[in-house]
Amino acid sequence: MPIQKACVIGAGVMGAGIAAQIANAGIPVLLLDIVPKEGAENSGGRSAIAKSAIEKLLKADPAPLMSKAAAKLITPGNIEDDLDQLGDVDWVVEAIIERLDLKQGLYHKLEGKRKKGSILSSNTSTIPLKTLVEGMPENVQADFCITHFFNPPRYMRLLEIVGGPKTRAEVLKDISDFGDRMLGKTIVRAKDTPGFVGNRIGVFWMQAAVNAALDLGLTVEEADAIMGRPIGAPKTGLFGLLDLVGLDLMPHVDKSMASLLKPDDAYMKLRRPWPLLEKMIADGYTGRKGKGGFYRLNTAGGAKVKESINLTTGAYAPSDRARLDSADAAKGGLKTLVEHKDKGGQYAWKVLSGLLSYAASLVPEIADDVVAVDQGMKTGYNWKRGPFEMIDQMGAAWFAEKLAAEKLPVPAFLSVAAKAGGFYRIANGQIEHLQPDGNYTKLLRPDGVLLLSDIKLSSKPIIKNGSASLWDIGDGVACLEFHSKMNALDPDSLALVKQSVDHVAKKMKALVIHNEAENFSVGANIGLALFAANIAMWPMIDDMIGTGQSAYKAVKFAPFPVVGAPSGMALGGGCEVLLHCAAIQAHAETYMGLVEVGVGLIPGWGGCKEMLLRYQPGPKDPKGPMPPVAQAFEAISLAKVAKSAAEAKELRFLRKDDAITMNRDRLLYDAKQEALALLAAGYQPPQPQELRLPGPTGRTALQLAVEGFALQGKALPHDVTVSDALAEVLTGGKTDFTEVIAEDQISKLEKKAFMTLLRTGPTLARMEHMLSTGKPLRN
Ligand code: NAD
Repeated sequence: MPIQKACVIGAGVMGAGIAAQIANAGIPVLLLDIVPKEGAENSGGRSAIAKSAIEKLLKADPAPLMSKAAAKLITPGNIEDDLDQLGDVDWVVEAIIERLDLKQGLYHKLEGKRKKGSILSSNTSTIPLKTLVEGMPENVQADFCITHFFNPPRYMRLLEIVGGPKTRAEVLKDISDFGDRMLGKTIVRAKDTPGFVGNRIGVFWMQAAVNAALDLGLTVEEADAIMGRPIGAPKTGLFGLLDLVGLDLMPHVDKSMASLLKPDDAYMKLRRPWPLLEKMIADGYTGRKGKGGFYRLNTAGGAKVKESINLTTGAYAPSDRARLDSADAAKGGLKTLVEHKDKGGQYAWKVLSGLLSYAASLVPEIADDVVAVDQGMKTGYNWKRGPFEMIDQMGAAWFAEKLAAEKLPVPAFLSVAAKAGGFYRIANGQIEHLQPDGNYTKLLRPDGVLLLSDIKLSSKPIIKNGSASLWDIGDGVACLEFHSKMNALDPDSLALVKQSVDHVAKKMKALVIHNEAENFSVGANIGLALFAANIAMWPMIDDMIGTGQSAYKAVKFAPFPVVGAPSGMALGGGCEVLLHCAAIQAHAETYMGLVEVGVGLIPGWGGCKEMLLRYQPGPKDPKGPMPPVAQAFEAISLAKVAKSAAEAKELRFLRKDDAITMNRDRLLYDAKQEALALLAAGYQPPQPQELRLPGPTGRTALQLAVEGFALQGKALPHDVTVSDALAEVLTGGKTDFTEVIAEDQISKLEKKAFMTLLRTGPTLARMEHMLSTGKPLRN
């Protein structure tokens, strides 16, 4: 049964976030909470808690909502007055406080109200499913499962789903499908065991890493320098992460884990009192939400100073960068890290030896296979590799031998992997994973999932250079992949854009532009442009702009459809290439924007022209040459960046009929289908357009507005120069409204303005600033 309407009960941190993600998927959702105690209702009345949760959603940063409009899909209510509305709700998710009596009381209350056969799930972190449904009517047990989201629900990809012995198979299938396709989550089917997959291993990791840091006498910076990027965890490391999630969570989680785990579980041996943590919590040092945590910001002599705590004395002192050779050596892989002789290397081994052995001892107890565990840790804790992928990187046999040599226990499954040659292998161009019985099973992707990484295992690129490659993704469709550092675009990337269009025109049917890096593209390679400008290689720069313009023009007028499929940042030149595509299939988490003014430039590869075209009035919009110019001017001069694909539609970086894919793993497949659909509909490339632009009078109007900002101190003098250059392009230079101007002509104006700005000192200074800090210069 498809889920067309949902209800979230409990409008706290998780419930509100889950409701927001359901709304982000375009699904209407009721958000219910208790009726506040008399006198506490304030203006929100009996549904005040849910109402204020929605208000908070609209203000929170990072935003739980992908667009403000999505909030309209969330209807606030309360569990006393609004349960009658459950008659047409297909999925009720309970996210109330972690108390068994309250949760069970609520489930009873829902009976007779809930639509027959609707799904009922709990977001519990710690209460076993079998306990939750104990004594519940048969139909509740049949409709019930656990849907365990991670915080914040929009951004954390993991959704653990747990069924019980009586849960109907259809319930698990429907909710998995909805979570995957509509909510964009990576579904991990976990068993009904404490902490499921993510927290079972994650909590062990944190406790093991704290113990080892204390035992080895590491500073918090040293511990974080190893427990972050070097092991493949986020750069917050260990103590930075504890500060982020809240120190008070630790004892709470520890207690609940200890109450659920068997006494011989390896985690139980890690438990020990930690007086410093207790004292910090008691004193209000609960992390970022409190007075600070292992790190804090202190104001000394008017300046903000980052301080860290001494793990032995509990005193704060200015934070000191860790100097550990092992942290650098980790670039050579995990094995190099754990073999390193310094204390960072010892620390890594101490933690990873225990952690990875623990993980190997937990399959199939917590999940059916190693893939589920690895996926869980990658999407729930944002690790680069899951535990079994980490073992494989070191070599399963090597790892097992080192454990044995140190008289540490070697889990049976690890011995099997050591003998077989690893937990994963590639056979006939496909990934296979090891089962505890020693057999390998093919890794099956769900229908509608197509990954470039899989394609790479069984084929070679059609064309390739240092910055981009072209792949055959089947059915006559090619995929152009950028792969330079941060996918910054350089002459090689542009050359491959052009070569790809030529190749597809001759030999294939359609092209998709997509990659699996964190960011689609951060824009043109500024370092290269700055280098060339500093040695006055103007012809080279001129050529690079010309090459970019003609490559993107080739994309736009290709005789076949080109579909852009971005995820993450698509900025500057990365945004411009998308603006030239016949259609875009965007991942919901796509951040598009023309940010060139941040480095004192304007879009030069056709971005100004394309935005002017996009803002041309529809039948209901005000007519005249100025509105589209003013809108394009606003988007580009303020370097507006859409913080989601939905917002990109509002800003018109995406067209109304460009499509959005919630689950990143489905993006390439969806984009390919879109390309095939365009072909099937008899794709014809667009015709070059002509525009009527206001010319110098329009430019003066925009100039006046910017000068007004400058007078108010809201713009620097160089902003006025950049804005004026932009205004000149967008208003069509010397044209006027009585004549038409070809789109090519606007590109020429872009190039001229770009070159002029690049010759100015302040622009070069801004580029240098961006390169050294990664941020635009602000006044
Ligand atoms: P929270 O305290 O922020 O919110 C709980 C909400 O439930 C409150 O608004 C409260 O008024 C409401 N509530 C209490 N009793 C109720 C009842 N009988 N009927 C309706 N509403 C009621 O808690 P949270 O952090 O959002 O956690 C909610 C659930 O999600 C818990 O089961 C928790 O274990 C789980 N969880 C939390 C996280 C996390 O990081 N916070 C992560 C995953 C799962």
